[in-house]
Amino acid sequence: MTFSAKENRYEVMKYRSCGRSGLKLPELSLGFWQNFGGVDCYETGCETVLSAFDAGITHFDLANNYGPPLGSAEITFGRILKENLLPYRDEIVISTKAGCRIWPGPYGDLGSRKHLITSLDASLKRMGLDYVDIFYSHRPDPDTPIEETMGALADIVKQGKALYVGISKYNAEQSTQAFSVLRTLGVPCLINQPIYSMLNRWIEDKLLEEIEKEGAGCICFSPLAQGLLTNKYLDGIIPEGSRAFREKSLKETLITPGLLKKLNMLNEIAKERGCTLSALAILWILRDQRNTSVLIGASSSIQLRENLTAISQPPLSSEELEKIEKVLKMS
Ligand code: NDP
Repeated sequence: MTFSAKENRYEVMKYRSCGRSGLKLPELSLGFWQNFGGVDCYETGCETVLSAFDAGITHFDLANNYGPPLGSAEITFGRILKENLLPYRDEIVISTKAGCRIWPGPYGDLGSRKHLITSLDASLKRMGLDYVDIFYSHRPDPDTPIEETMGALADIVKQGKALYVGISKYNAEQSTQAFSVLRTLGVPCLINQPIYSMLNRWIEDKLLEEIEKEGAGCICFSPLAQGLLTNKYLDGIIPEGSRAFREKSLKETLITPGLLKKLNMLNEIAKERGCTLSALAILWILRDQRNTSVLIGASSSIQLRENLTAISQPPLSSEELEKIEKVLKMS
């Protein structure tokens, strides 16, 4: 059946300007790191993406290496686009990245001009696109001059293969350098993509300040700490099929009695305002206007819908923020 998007899809979602740019991003974006590979169920992934679009999520985040197998998430996305979303292409912001290993040999990763340009060409083919909206350097490369990496990003924009560029996993110092080179090249950095959640607050130290100074946006990845900040693990049992059960990126050993105590206390705060822990974790990131978008993952449309309830929640009060702070600071 031909997909027809809901007419009211822009009524509930809120959009924030990405730094000082003209591009607005939804407060919630959907990432393809896991759940959309060739090994995953296509129908489930497709349903999740279409539900997201119907709820006003206009931004989908990919990378050359997402799968497994490597590259297959881009193929899945290309198929969903071709079969359902192509008429809506202009309403969608698609990002991809290069920098993590995708093919063998010296050009298969990191920040050389050779890797970035050839990898993006391959990504465009896999997704069936002429251009992406945002292209990222996925990680800093200590062996390549920053001028070469940023020069490649700027040329990609000038060639029309990406509308904007961003950086991911760069620390504050590396980000400042990248911002400065990109500015000189006349292609300002649109966005920075760091890891950030209630359980990992490293960007508060310096990075957010640098991002704000530059006028870039910030999109936070793993905002639910890969599922820890949901009701999934609260009783200490690892559900079959969950990320911690699969143990690839979320180690079971992380789920200690101390962490479970914290999570359950946060869950009580969520219950007091009538929301779920995942919604509370999303709202908490959105408390800071410098965070443009919260980049979630979801292995089903049910999870996605639960996470979307955050958008219609009132902002956290100062009393709630204080309570949360106390829990997060507990040793
Ligand atoms: P999250 O922290 O949102 O974790 C998502 C996972 O949590 C889901 O796959 C699911 O796991 C579980 N989950 C989500 N919602 C619920 C819910 N309501 N109830 C129960 N469980 C839930 O984000 P990710 O770690 O997936 O990262 C999000 C995106 O960020 C990626 O897809 C990618 O686009 C980007 N990213 C970027 C990186 C970079 O280097 N730039 C690195 C990592 C991610 P389960 O399988 O257990 O159901």
